[in-house]
Amino acid sequence: MRAVPYHSSVRGGPSAYPVGMLTITRALYDQIVEHSRADHPDEACGVVAGPVGTGRPERFIPMLNAARSPTFYEFDSADLLKLYREMDDRDEEPVIVYHSHTATEAYPSRTDISYANEPQAHYVLVSTADSDGAGPFQFRSFGIVEGVVTEEDVKVVEAYDA
Ligand SMILES: [Zn+2]
Repeated sequence: MRAVPYHSSVRGGPSAYPVGMLTITRALYDQIVEHSRADHPDEACGVVAGPVGTGRPERFIPMLNAARSPTFYEFDSADLLKLYREMDDRDEEPVIVYHSHTATEAYPSRTDISYANEPQAHYVLVSTADSDGAGPFQFRSFGIVEGVVTEEDVKVVEAYDA
């Protein structure tokens, strides 16, 4: 993953950082899994944006893996710049940054960790290693702050509380 421009979303301050749980709707969860399966055996990647400071993933934005690789992903830099401008305009931030691992477990690689520069984000890893498109898969979420990886509980809901 290419380093992304450091985003003003940190204006939310430390209170906006992950609190050990990702709450996500079933619909978004399914979209992330579907995208991961569709791009297998290449890694899939994308973002789920949400209103700044809420920690609530709302807008599913599948991205192209510019590397088109089974072992690596990289957002296209022009796509990424466009996305960040769009999120700024909408007062959104990347609540989830997701990608798939297609031959290994759903845990951030050293590269993933070194490029993780969104301390407020939930880094979702989906593994399609055992699935070949249909079988079991892993869906895990991590906070990555200054190189420290903390796994989070994932709570799937039908809808967010109002
Ligand atoms: Zn990875």
